[in-house]
Amino acid sequence: MSIRLLDPRIVDQIAAGEVVERPASVVKELVENALDAGATRIAIELMEGGRGLVRVVDDGSGIPASELALAFASHATSKLADVGDLEHIATLGFRGEALASIGSISRARIRSRARGSEAGAEIEDHGGRVGDVRAAAAPPGTSVEVRDLFFNTPARRKFLKRDSTELGHCVEAVLRLALAHPGVAFHLRHDGKEVLTLPKAERLFERLRAALGAALGEEPLELATRDAELGLEGVLQRPSEAKREARQYLFLNGRHIRDRALQRAIKDAYASFLFGNVQASYVLHLSLDPALADPNVHPTKIEVRFRDAGRIFGLLRRSVEQRLRASGHAAPGARLLLGDGEPLPEMPMPIGVRDEGPPSRAGSPSSGASFPIVARPELPFDVHAAEATSATAPTSGAREAIAPDREPARSAGAEVIQLHQRYLVRATYRGLEVIDQHALHERVNYEAFRSDLRAKGIAIQRLLAPEIAPVDPALLASIEERGEELQRLGLDLRPFGRDSVALFGLPARLSGEDPGHLLERALRLLREAADGEELAPEHFLAEVLASRACRGSVMVGDPMRPEQVRYLLERAATLADDSTCPHGRPTRIAFSVEELDRAFKRR
Ligand code: ADP
Ligand code: MG
Repeated sequence: MSIRLLDPRIVDQIAAGEVVERPASVVKELVENALDAGATRIAIELMEGGRGLVRVVDDGSGIPASELALAFASHATSKLADVGDLEHIATLGFRGEALASIGSISRARIRSRARGSEAGAEIEDHGGRVGDVRAAAAPPGTSVEVRDLFFNTPARRKFLKRDSTELGHCVEAVLRLALAHPGVAFHLRHDGKEVLTLPKAERLFERLRAALGAALGEEPLELATRDAELGLEGVLQRPSEAKREARQYLFLNGRHIRDRALQRAIKDAYASFLFGNVQASYVLHLSLDPALADPNVHPTKIEVRFRDAGRIFGLLRRSVEQRLRASGHAAPGARLLLGDGEPLPEMPMPIGVRDEGPPSRAGSPSSGASFPIVARPELPFDVHAAEATSATAPTSGAREAIAPDREPARSAGAEVIQLHQRYLVRATYRGLEVIDQHALHERVNYEAFRSDLRAKGIAIQRLLAPEIAPVDPALLASIEERGEELQRLGLDLRPFGRDSVALFGLPARLSGEDPGHLLERALRLLREAADGEELAPEHFLAEVLASRACRGSVMVGDPMRPEQVRYLLERAATLADDSTCPHGRPTRIAFSVEELDRAFKRR
């Protein structure tokens, strides 16, 4: 065959392969165009999961009849004039290939009336055959109709899934755009039925809640911070509401993105608040000088290259972590007292973490202590020290961490009452709180293990006999590759023969743990970690530490001496967050005086 130029229609069909994968891609392109045209109301109508019909109607700027002829031409765009514009693109589209691509693989029609124009016009494209512009009655704005997607490319049509699946993708496409455009109203119908209605929202937070509803749990946390370069705005699910399934969305300068490193940063921020196999939902909008990020690395524009990824990662992690911390998810007691019917102001501060005390407390050891104790610079008993000496001997089950007898009983200045050998009740400056003694001690012990691990690094303790387990070849390769990384986690894990691994050593701190169990967890960590992603010691150790902290803590049913109670409360007050146990249950429930007044009908 001789070399020839391809027929333009074929070129468009090939291009369509990149842009249009399924009906949801059409929905995305058309809604993006409506948004670029400044629409305030966008109605999307689908039939048969979008394969029969996708119609997007907007009230945007419209297309002048004189330009309509170009709309289906490839590389025709009104959004980009020269190469310089590429550096600061403010619109969602700019390649000018969506409509040409879509028209080449469907029966499409654009009907539009430009703002200020008396009359409308329309044009059709059937599989790349573009008709003439004709006059047509139309309201201001644009309506794009795409019927019989892939009618002329049967191979692609075959890949479409059931209607419900395709519809799901379409809804997701609309949702992503709606999460980034709170000021625009969205309506989505499928086969005549209402699927999604989102009225215009005044604030982003409002839109995020309306769009994701229950997925964000009750009283999700609003996040809004900004420094010189990076702005961050969105919503975070409370850690205590995390579920197995989560909805997680990231946006950069108004575009939905998927970025492993950024997702990781958020996961890390949540790590110390979550336990077990749960994840939190969130929506976060990052805004960044466009010159510092390149959104143009992939045709669907979902991945981004950052100029300074490490810094952005760090900022994101810290901001999210701070927000979670500041939320002090101590369960508000009033909700339990008054039931859910009555809306209550959110507790402004986590009691016990940042409860402001009277001025005379200026010299107390931790400015966060809400317990009116006498200032005391040094704790007489160090959990770390006790742990450190036992690094090589199993301490599981030991419950030495509560202040021993040599701690003299001292009047704390306020009574703490132990109820039924389970709960501690005490007055706070705002009201009162009820503490779950086991849960709080768990958190204290858990944090002690963690800071100890951080401070001392992870020493490896060799096993007398290696622990061996069979693995599949892919995992074996990854273990070989990540040998050094695993060592840093305190795991001496190496291939053993052709289809097994052997654990030769484990973190000395965990020497009391069952090696088989640890090996199992390590393998799970490896299986879950994606290629190229770093293994996070926190995730691996968190579970182990939490169960260890649990075993070393006062139990329900244990009586506590006053000095033990005080010791526990003091330790807790030094922690950045003590509002949940490592398993995510609350450690304390707080009642403010106002809430009590209300419960007693004083207000
Ligand atoms: P791009 O969005 O990359 O410019 P498209 O093929 O999606 O390319 O659209 C081509 C052009 O058609 C746009 O640049 C715009 O001028 C016009 N257009 C498409 N849809 C609309 C709309 N809903 N309202 C106004 N103009 C539109
Ligand atoms: Mg476009």
